[in-house]
Amino acid sequence: MTAFSLEGISKRFGEVTALDNVSLSLNEGEVLGLIGQNGSGKSTIMKVMAGLHRPDSGVVKVGGRAVQLRSPAEAALAGIGLVHQEQSLIQALSVAENLFLDKPAGSTWAGVYRWNSLRDRAKAQLDKVELDIDPFTPVSALSFGQRQMVELAKVLSLEELVHGHLVILFDEPTAVLNPPEIQALFGQIRRIKHRSSVVFVSHRMDEILDISDRVYVMSDGRNVATRDRDAVNPDELYELMVGRQRVNR
Ligand code: ADP
Ligand code: MG
Repeated sequence: MTAFSLEGISKRFGEVTALDNVSLSLNEGEVLGLIGQNGSGKSTIMKVMAGLHRPDSGVVKVGGRAVQLRSPAEAALAGIGLVHQEQSLIQALSVAENLFLDKPAGSTWAGVYRWNSLRDRAKAQLDKVELDIDPFTPVSALSFGQRQMVELAKVLSLEELVHGHLVILFDEPTAVLNPPEIQALFGQIRRIKHRSSVVFVSHRMDEILDISDRVYVMSDGRNVATRDRDAVNPDELYELMVGRQRVNR
């Protein structure tokens, strides 16, 4: 089943064509690894999927139905959540407050601010990513790895809102993580992918080959290849990304 698709999406910023007629389909329960060099359009794809950018042309479909995602709140109501490249948590607030801060207006989260219920609901949310911390810890006291888990827990809280399958987008989530933190994040992605679909963006081939079921390659605003993980090797991937053969060192 296709969870999400883009059909012929283009996006320009002034003179720059960030996306040139890009199509993508994401299957339920898979991790699609999106790789490309800096400036190839990876973040722009994620922002179109997350309702942060309106495409100039093309169609966005969720569960086979054409939709317009005009804001992150609309994307959230469609079950699409973005784990940010730049960390989006408010450092001075607690983990619990961050988890429930900006739920879409009119959602069932409106009454969550009663204190005890906040603790319990935050605890339940943190359990989803196996993060055993006091929900009232300020975010500033957490490691980067723990902050990334809170970001993921926050996206997973959309499960209660949409009562179903999520599309979870990770835009270079490993940039500030150390190797054990990266493996912990990958462990969580493997746990959640059975009940959601994941797009994982990185410019690092080792990470993409580690976590992906399929690999989607961007170059200069275009999708130049899509391959099953097992049908691609590092040399070929490099060539697709860069457009020339890898030089042996
Ligand atoms: P990546 O995430 O692969 O590094 P991006 O999607 O961020 O690439 O950027 C693709 C291209 O679009 C780049 O040339 C970038 O400079 C340009 N771009 C992205 N966002 C904006 C913006 N808000 N304004 C102008 N140019 C942008
Ligand atoms: Mg980017």
